[in-house]
Amino acid sequence: MPELPEVEHLRRSLDPWIVGARLLDVRLARKSVVTLTSDEPRNTAAFRVALGVGETIVRTDRHGKQMAIAFGSGRMLVVQLGMTGSITVETGPSPRGIEGRHRHVVWEACSSTSSSTHSARPSNQSPHWRLAFRDPRRFGGLTAYRSREALDRAWSSLGPDALHIDGAALLAALSRTRRPIKSALLDQSVVAGVGNIYADESLHAARIHPLAIANAISESRVVALAAEIRRILGRATEAGGSTLRDYRDAFGQPGSAVQAHAAYGRDGLPCLRCGTTLLGMRLQGRATVHCPHCQDLST
Ligand SMILES: [Zn+2]
Repeated sequence: MPELPEVEHLRRSLDPWIVGARLLDVRLARKSVVTLTSDEPRNTAAFRVALGVGETIVRTDRHGKQMAIAFGSGRMLVVQLGMTGSITVETGPSPRGIEGRHRHVVWEACSSTSSSTHSARPSNQSPHWRLAFRDPRRFGGLTAYRSREALDRAWSSLGPDALHIDGAALLAALSRTRRPIKSALLDQSVVAGVGNIYADESLHAARIHPLAIANAISESRVVALAAEIRRILGRATEAGGSTLRDYRDAFGQPGSAVQAHAAYGRDGLPCLRCGTTLLGMRLQGRATVHCPHCQDLST
């Protein structure tokens, strides 16, 4: 499942292409992947408006695992990758075979003629290209908002963004829950964008037991945890995401390498810090690994 680093890496790899680009047309092969504002009719005209046909993309943004595309009119389109979603720039012939399937939304796009500041965009490319939303398992989707304000209202139900979370914000978010810290971290309304891998990694790095009661952890340890979340997510973003076989950036390239994890997936192996055998358990159905020596339950 793509986590925050994959989504942020994808956003950064898309930006040089899509910001400033104009969307000329769209082919919507599966309407069910698009969520319109509730009072909009689900007809062709509404889908074309929602998907930005005729618009210029002015910016992208991200909160947690959701990426937003901002159009010149002020409308927004949120991309959720779910488990297998991707957004890809296609400059050649349409992909065939398995790569050509499950492309639920394909835009025809052209680059703006004025902006040549993006070094990532080869200058010898045809000005016309395609942007494809592909999602074989269909847990992801596209959600349209009429304005930035409407999107902000939706995003206000999410906790602070994990990539930028500071100690005070994490302390405030955790102060409201007596759940185990790992459960709290996985709750997107507490912190947006910490998934299973990075919850285990950041708790191990901050030496906090996954079952420690969230609002009983000392302030200094919460501040340290926030710093580890930022550091670990930031590093994974730079590396192009983590361990996903399915992950591809905007050009269909996989993440740079399988990243070394210190806790996640290392059940039964020695702790890289102290050598104690790491323990695995299930917490709310999620595989959870911790070091019984480094991560004690005292808070
Ligand atoms: Zn250890």
